[in-house]
Amino acid sequence: MYNNFCSRHVGSVGDTRESMIKELGYDRIVDLIEDAVPANIRGGAPLELPDALSETGALDRLRGIMGENKVLKSFIGQGYSGTIVPPVIQRNILENPGWYTAYTPYQAEIAQGRLEALLNFQTLISDLTGLDVAGASLLDEGTAAAEAMALAKSGNRKGTTMFVADSCHPQTIDVVKTRAEPLGIQIEVGDWKSFDPAACEGLFAVLVQYPDTLGTIEDYSEFVEKAHAAGALAIVAADLLALTVLRAPGEFGADICVGNSQRFGVPFGFGGPHAAFMSCTDKLKRKMPGRLIGVSVDAQGKPGYRLALQTREQHIRRDKATSNICTAQVLLAVMASMYAVYHGPDGLKRIANKANTCARILAASLTQGGFELVSDQFFDTITIKVPAKADEYLAAAVELGYNLRRVDADHVSIACDETFTCEDGKSLLQVFGIEKADSELADGPNWNEVHNRESDFCTAPVFNLYHSETEMLRYVARLEKKDLALNESMIALGSCTMKLNATAEMMPLSWPEVGNIHPFAPDDQTVGYRAMLDELSDWLARITGFAAVSLQPNAGSQGEYAGLLAIRRYHMANGDEERNICIIPTSAHGTNPASAVMVGFKVVPVACDEAGNIDVTDLKAKAEKYADNLGALMITYPSTHGVYEETIVEICEAIHANGGQVYMDGANMNAQVGLTSPGQIGADVCHLNLHKTFCIPHGGGGPGVGPIGVAEQLVPYLPGHQMMENEADPVCSAAYGSASINTISWMYIAMMGADGLTEATKMAILNANYVAKRLDDSFPVLYTGNKGLVAHECIIDLRPVSDASGITVEDVAKRLMDYGYHSPTMSWPVGGTLMIEPTESESKAELDKFCDAMISIRDEIQAVIDGRSDKEDNVLKNAPHTAEMVISDSWTHSYGREQAAYPMPAQRDHKFWPAVGRIDNVHGDRNLVCSCAGMEAYSE
Ligand SMILES: *Cc1c(COP(=O)(O)O)cnc(C)c1O
Repeated sequence: MYNNFCSRHVGSVGDTRESMIKELGYDRIVDLIEDAVPANIRGGAPLELPDALSETGALDRLRGIMGENKVLKSFIGQGYSGTIVPPVIQRNILENPGWYTAYTPYQAEIAQGRLEALLNFQTLISDLTGLDVAGASLLDEGTAAAEAMALAKSGNRKGTTMFVADSCHPQTIDVVKTRAEPLGIQIEVGDWKSFDPAACEGLFAVLVQYPDTLGTIEDYSEFVEKAHAAGALAIVAADLLALTVLRAPGEFGADICVGNSQRFGVPFGFGGPHAAFMSCTDKLKRKMPGRLIGVSVDAQGKPGYRLALQTREQHIRRDKATSNICTAQVLLAVMASMYAVYHGPDGLKRIANKANTCARILAASLTQGGFELVSDQFFDTITIKVPAKADEYLAAAVELGYNLRRVDADHVSIACDETFTCEDGKSLLQVFGIEKADSELADGPNWNEVHNRESDFCTAPVFNLYHSETEMLRYVARLEKKDLALNESMIALGSCTMKLNATAEMMPLSWPEVGNIHPFAPDDQTVGYRAMLDELSDWLARITGFAAVSLQPNAGSQGEYAGLLAIRRYHMANGDEERNICIIPTSAHGTNPASAVMVGFKVVPVACDEAGNIDVTDLKAKAEKYADNLGALMITYPSTHGVYEETIVEICEAIHANGGQVYMDGANMNAQVGLTSPGQIGADVCHLNLHKTFCIPHGGGGPGVGPIGVAEQLVPYLPGHQMMENEADPVCSAAYGSASINTISWMYIAMMGADGLTEATKMAILNANYVAKRLDDSFPVLYTGNKGLVAHECIIDLRPVSDASGITVEDVAKRLMDYGYHSPTMSWPVGGTLMIEPTESESKAELDKFCDAMISIRDEIQAVIDGRSDKEDNVLKNAPHTAEMVISDSWTHSYGREQAAYPMPAQRDHKFWPAVGRIDNVHGDRNLVCSCAGMEAYSE
């Protein structure tokens, strides 16, 4: 026990662990667990998983499995291109816990580093696409196109049809179709050249690809005009690198532009994760899905970044939201933005020109060799006509170590990229049995002048300052140091499970056989990948007690979507089209109602009683009332209130009795693993957040993986993909979603084994109850189960002291920064409270330090109540205190500088300084600035 991985993953072992158990009044942890977890859900069949491996043992085994992959150079294109991850970015961001263990930047003052990087991302996207506003990443190109469809639709309630050019990437068309169907949107796929927008009734949007999927650069300006004239919006899916040299979509009238930033220094990873992007016109920005970074000022008038327009998001808008997106792709957006910072506009153009030059040489040689191309208007991708010979050329290419794209039996595409070398050129000529063209390339571009990019991009200083490695290294480090991540202190965010992301779990991500596999590589090259994913699916099926698991959804929200879609398809297949009601407790996460609506369900809320439990009488009454139309119940377990509801089994039965299916939101799976399971409890489908329970780091707000497990009857309705045997329409672009990061969860389970995973759950429960007990005198714990215990998290109630003191929960969250902590989840699911989830990975010492901080803050609040501190000018209202504030020659506050900055003795040894003072959100939303270009207004 003492030197296995589990003993490193959990924070407390041995005597310390025993002392905590005693502290809670128990002799053994099993007694605590028996009291905490209701008997009617405990004790199913034991988890059957392989024995735990050591770190080296698991790495060796995974090497063996992934060694079955064949790593060829892929010039397949189709939305994914080879790229060189600048080593300075690989080591200092991708492999650096200071970046990858950070949480979503809700606490802006201690997230200025990644917020700046994301603002750079937005600037890059907005500049390249020529549109006013860009968001801070979406999940992938296919879902981004689907989100664009929803955005366009939300402004045109009467519209029912979207036209999609058949020259879009096939996977994008498939995802858009999936998302359109439940919303009653007709997707018309066809040739844009012959499509007449004016003749299409109910047309609300058109979607085209630029350059198109075969590489052709088209002039869409007239088509866009016609679409506008017909009252439709124009959505352009674009290639980011091409935009460095081609006319920006905004300049030929696009209203929305989407795409993938993968080729800006993010490995293929067999499909993901990568950051997709969306930009739009100013008119649409208030409805744009996903997160948007904006600039504002702090309490001292200094500029600072923060998340803007949050009232758009599903957290607030719930079933009125147009998108369910929550976790996005922050780490990958950061990487892509840093790639642009590192290369600058000229460097990016150089890379683009290189890819174009390689394609031009190939094109000239092929033409000279007697081949015909689909078009001479290409950027980096050429499509060759090879009647009935595609397979032959493909095989010859594989023989020499290359993957090309098989468009169909008669066409092959070659997509050149940053990695293309002279050797590659020679080999490819050999594949086609031709010589290099003897003519020199003509001066100037190979495309018509109208396609030229005339406008500048990335003119902001940040893209032009850090092109040496030393400068780049320091820029990355400077931003990292502004952010509080898990390498600084515990981040006890309820519902978000910020546990250890072990180094051994992260290491495989840097292996070529993990990173360098194209999502559309042939099956015989991905044997290892699919074996790893199959094994992980099998383990997760055992852990959840389900028949099958799909790893395709690339975030929790997407898992919700895929799971509800399976339920919908199941009802439809049974002839129950009218089962369109989804019951959702009012305490549910905002993604739940947002997802339900996207799948075509009508949301019926049920309330909770004062004890925080779902009102079972109300729920049963509603299930019966809607018996003819009941489609599903969405329920989180343990509840979002951090309690194991005793009635869960009864609730599932009531739903089934009335013809509905039970969707369990598995965000709280960390309180179930090894002790019970959604399958055992009676759920039919459940999503997991591998970026919560199964150790994928949060990356500062993504990536994630949101697999779903389903019971037998729903297996036929899991999402499929053109690359899979199951060809049902997919929920995202790649067959296995964010495939590469599944290695992290694979490593975790392999190193923990059944006993380790169960121990982790027990320790998570022990830690939460320990914190609850230590804090109860200062801040009462709001909800507990029958025996006065909580599950793996606890909600502490600040409302009574807030009322007495005027100190808000936000003041406490900001004051925690002065103590070196990130706030627990604020005011969700209950306003005026904090939800604390310590996870199993935190040690007793860290829990005690955090509790000491909270208790000390309670004393600070008491001082306000007692009149010993000023009601306005106090350490809480003025928090956080920056070094600049404390060091300043003028100090006018009614309390001392030491109290402001060093409230705990240990901080004299090490102190984390917030980079800015309290940020003014209202000011930022009123004066919306979402790119570096607008920063001047703030920097006088
Ligand atoms: C995190 C969370 C989600 C959403 O997951 P994402 O991966 O962020 O999309 C849904 N429900 C609950 C209860 C959660 O905590």
